[in-house]
Amino acid sequence: MGRPVDIAHSLGNNALVITWDDGVRSELPIPYLRAWCPCAGCQGHGNEIHHRPVGDDIRAEGLYEMGAYALAIRFSDGHDAGIFSWTWLRQLSPQTEPVGLKRGSFRAGTFIAPPP
Ligand SMILES: [Zn+2]
Repeated sequence: MGRPVDIAHSLGNNALVITWDDGVRSELPIPYLRAWCPCAGCQGHGNEIHHRPVGDDIRAEGLYEMGAYALAIRFSDGHDAGIFSWTWLRQLSPQTEPVGLKRGSFRAGTFIAPPP
């Protein structure tokens, strides 16, 4: 799994724009990241990965690099427990096949849930 060489916070698009070391550039809307928050409170302790949709008005108020492996995001709803590892961010990226934790698909900044 790759590492970011650049992470930009696009306020206009309300998204993180990550450039990976293999040249891939991923745009990840902030509400999409909030919906896939990896923290224990959002994910629980089972094997199933939970997608918890939130409103499009959720924004990122703080971004904090955690050592060399992850990014912590403080969201505008006050939630700040999520530590987004590079692996997690890459798996959420639209360029990564929607397998495993990212079931469904990602189009035009919106996560399309898989059919039941
Ligand atoms: Zn969370």
